[in-house]
Amino acid sequence: MSDYVKDLMAEVKGKNPAEPEFHQAVQEVAESLALVFERHPEYRAAKILERIIEPERVIMFRVPWVDEQGEVHVNRGYRIEMNSAIGPYKGGLRFHPSVTLGILKFLAFEQVFKNSLTTLPMGGGKGGSDFDPKGKSDLKIMRFCQSFMSELQRHIGPDTDVPAGDIGVGGREIGFLFGQYKKLRNEFTGVLTGKGLNWGGSLIRPEATGYGAVYFAAEMLGTRGKTLEGKTCLVSGSGNVAQYTVEKINELGGKAVTLSDSNGYIYDEAGITKEKLAFVMDLKNVRRGRIKEYTDKFKGSVYKDIDPKADANPLWNHKADCAFPSATQNEINAKDAGNLLRNGVYVVSEGANMPTTIDGVKQFLDAKILYGPGKAANAGGVATSGLEMSQNSMRLPWPREEVDARLRQIMKSIHRTCVDTANRFGTPGNYVNGANIGGFLKVADAMMDQGVV
Ligand code: NAP
Repeated sequence: MSDYVKDLMAEVKGKNPAEPEFHQAVQEVAESLALVFERHPEYRAAKILERIIEPERVIMFRVPWVDEQGEVHVNRGYRIEMNSAIGPYKGGLRFHPSVTLGILKFLAFEQVFKNSLTTLPMGGGKGGSDFDPKGKSDLKIMRFCQSFMSELQRHIGPDTDVPAGDIGVGGREIGFLFGQYKKLRNEFTGVLTGKGLNWGGSLIRPEATGYGAVYFAAEMLGTRGKTLEGKTCLVSGSGNVAQYTVEKINELGGKAVTLSDSNGYIYDEAGITKEKLAFVMDLKNVRRGRIKEYTDKFKGSVYKDIDPKADANPLWNHKADCAFPSATQNEINAKDAGNLLRNGVYVVSEGANMPTTIDGVKQFLDAKILYGPGKAANAGGVATSGLEMSQNSMRLPWPREEVDARLRQIMKSIHRTCVDTANRFGTPGNYVNGANIGGFLKVADAMMDQGVV
């Protein structure tokens, strides 16, 4: 670690105590940017990175709500408006009991670079709550969403800040949030993305993050003259990103053999086919059940509990070619990374945000595998949210083929930026440097143009 990064990290840790995920995200970016500052001292003099690290605004608020039994609940809501140098704040909302200020700051920080890479004019933001939607009735979810939006509505708008979904926030939650915004503001605008198709949503938005992560893997494989045809793939999670990752792997001729939730994972050596995936989508999106049920339905598959306190996750210990972590942050630690490499995995495309620890990333980089970090590989979701914003502004929906073609083109362009930037800064094949530097330069130049604000 250079002296610059050491000093910067000491300051970040001192100023933002008890936010380890935020420290981790900043350190990874700062290490890449040390290469830029050697050539461009003007960015360092203008304290561009120090300014990006400090959110433009942090909003924290009480979310009180009453359930069917008349019991009062109190959650905490957040919106981090991180950086608006290249466009309105944009980034998802996460509803999960693990949500803290530090988790959302890491996500908002990553979002700044990711949104810049998409080529679209979007700044970075993130928000959410420690509310746990799992197992709750639709009525409880609606009441919580209405209370959450009653406060959030005064801070967002189609030209200010445009939230979307993330963990625990899917089509149902976006619907309740949008309904409350519309009622309070008396305006029908594109203030949220991930909306339903007949009220301003975009085709391909639900699919976009998973599809994009697979397109990114296909681009990386292309640099070695290979395709996904016949490749065995490990996928974690079983939510939005994981489901459409499996769908696209199947379409491109690969075979997905795992899926998980926070209790455990299934391994299906025969592959999670289109029909099996339809079962998972119904299980997770309609019946809201646990992934364990998969093995009752499909003989030959096996289920194992995952112990979050164990030193490794057994899901990452199977023979495979590719891995698509699509659940949550830090789900691949150094031991898991070692297991993946030992089992022959040479493509990792991150659908989740920061799913690999710093030590795990180091192993992937040292092994020179095709490692696509989340801020590049999962940018297809927010890119398609950007396309939803364009359609909302024009009040014109685009056909499925057009959105998919644009998504594919954007993933190609992000891949090209990563490859070219990594080459330009003397670290060929290093997609981490490519993504961090590529995302930074556009934001940094905009901040230089706009003065110290
Ligand atoms: P989701 O639909 O809510 O699904 C999340 C999945 O991950 C579920 O299977 C969940 O299991 C599992 N999971 C969540 N927290 C976990 C934990 N602490 N330990 C183990 N498993 C956990 O969310 P999603 O939209 O697919 O998001 C997944 C990841 O992709 C997140 O890192 C998110 O930030 C990232 N991402 C999402 C988008 C998007 O467009 N949705 C875009 C870019 C990046 P349970 O049901 O048991 O909790």
